[in-house]
Amino acid sequence: MYLDEILEHNKQFVEAKHYEPHQTSKLPNQKSVILTCMDTRLIELLPAAMNIKNGDVKMIKNAGGVITGPYDSVVRSLLIAINVLQAEEVLIIGHKDCGMQKLDPSFVMEQMSQRQVENKDFQAVADAGIDIKEWLAGFETVEQSVESSVDILKKHPLMPAHIPVHGLVISPETGELSLVARGYGE
Ligand SMILES: [Zn+2]
Repeated sequence: MYLDEILEHNKQFVEAKHYEPHQTSKLPNQKSVILTCMDTRLIELLPAAMNIKNGDVKMIKNAGGVITGPYDSVVRSLLIAINVLQAEEVLIIGHKDCGMQKLDPSFVMEQMSQRQVENKDFQAVADAGIDIKEWLAGFETVEQSVESSVDILKKHPLMPAHIPVHGLVISPETGELSLVARGYGE
């Protein structure tokens, strides 16, 4: 299992004190918080392309780098970054060639069925008041998705007006950033 490889490496990592170059405080040096996608190509490319080092920023990741609703867990994390961890600027960064673009919820449900999820299980989700197709749905274009996330945050009653919320799109190949929306704050 991959877990065993990790644990083996980790023992050596700690013993050899390879953590030392990474040591820093929990407050972000750059006083900002980033929301982006969990895409594997961005793990090292995004920080490198933005000159972000360990300790510089708070980073939140999910599938697509999206805010799905004003009270989802991303918004909660953003508000904690701002109110408790001194973040003063928000960057929402989608990317080209994202797996969430035009993701078909029916496809995801078929995959779930192949992994022993049954109709009664889908029914339990519906009974809990969740529209599963809406819940699993991807987005049309990355620019629209970024704009929608920025919009949810800017209209949020708990979001401080002076915090700028920027929207960007990054290339997963070159790391090039394009600005979708520049936030000014008030
Ligand atoms: Zn993605």
